[in-house]
Amino acid sequence: MRTPIPDYLTEIQDSLRDDDQGAVADYIPALAEADPDLFAIALTTVAGRTYTAGDCDVEFSIQSMSKPFAYAAALTDRGEEFVGGRVGVEPSGEAFNELSLESDSHRPKNPMINAGAITTHQLLVGSGAKPAERVERALDLFSALAGRRLAIDEAVRDSELETADRNLAIAHMLRNYGILEDDPHEVVAGYTAQCSIRVSVRDIAVMAATLASGGIQPVTGEQVLDRATARKTLSVMASAGMYDAAGSWFNDVGIPAKSGVAGGLLGALPGQVGIGSFSPRLDAHGNSVRGIEVFRRLSTDMGLHLMDTESFGSHALRDIRVDADTTYLSLQGIIDFNGAEVVLHRLDEAPPETPTVIVDASRVERFSDVGRRMVIEGMRRLSLDGITVGLADPEERLPDPGLGDGTMPFIVPAQRTES
Ligand code: GLN
Repeated sequence: MRTPIPDYLTEIQDSLRDDDQGAVADYIPALAEADPDLFAIALTTVAGRTYTAGDCDVEFSIQSMSKPFAYAAALTDRGEEFVGGRVGVEPSGEAFNELSLESDSHRPKNPMINAGAITTHQLLVGSGAKPAERVERALDLFSALAGRRLAIDEAVRDSELETADRNLAIAHMLRNYGILEDDPHEVVAGYTAQCSIRVSVRDIAVMAATLASGGIQPVTGEQVLDRATARKTLSVMASAGMYDAAGSWFNDVGIPAKSGVAGGLLGALPGQVGIGSFSPRLDAHGNSVRGIEVFRRLSTDMGLHLMDTESFGSHALRDIRVDADTTYLSLQGIIDFNGAEVVLHRLDEAPPETPTVIVDASRVERFSDVGRRMVIEGMRRLSLDGITVGLADPEERLPDPGLGDGTMPFIVPAQRTES
């Protein structure tokens, strides 16, 4: 059998191919030369498999899709508090290149608009770093995220620098308020180089999939970003990634995303997929027209809206059985907050009446961190009630089962405890 997923992506592409609305960006002269008909889609799962359709190996400049990853680098290099003092996380509701700062703090509202992204670039590496070191930091991180060595498109960079008056104006304003430390020209040159890194849709789908899988690059297996950084990056993409269209985007599509003026669009659905599209014609917000439709179709047809859920309730408690002086609690599936709540609720509502309780985790797929802590706390409380607590966990799904008071549940040998 041949998997139908590439056919499905091709079908989406075919249905949108004739849509020629919008126009290529021309405020950067080199981008005005792009072939407007190029069109590509890529989807990478958190298991590291990539599916593509169309011009999937054509390279284009990453542009503003660099912003979330540079933000992730700044969080890594400088910490949340330091970064948060200089760039906010509120949606701006304004165009990407607006000359706006928060009125009291003078911080840019978020790292997705140019003011915030120029600030973020300056935060890379550390205070006093050389401009080239900051560009190298972005290039190294983006390469690790893509799983291959990326390069800067020098023609695009130089072309943008010739017409960068607006970004220079923003940078001078930032420096005036003490948000930027360095020479505005150097910072804009570095930021522009960061935006000129060449990628294909395959690259951006894999980079997005790394955010979707908690910072682990799904092909190389490398933990490129820590989990909290991946989460923060996705959060700011969700609220501000699509600039002044962020609200309607999230309402319709529901995938944290970031666009670039070269026509790229990337999105990441936590725990599931990274998606990339490339089509150079842009709408009035600077977002790819056909790219938006690709995401709209994928969201609807594949149920990828983040706020959509089919999981109502949990079946974490598979079975409860009393045999002589022992109560067996058989858990199953994924024990997260909800799953653990079901177990704790049952123990609270109908406390075991036997002197021994055995928690059987042999059918558990995994415990989330909070699920683990909650179940262990339940076991600790049973033990405080004078009950002898045991654990049947042949696959060791429940790491560190110590009850927090120096005692351990007694370990039941590997065997199903169900009847
Ligand atoms: N380099 C571009 C700029 O700063 C990026 C803008 C974008 O992709 N929205 O204007």
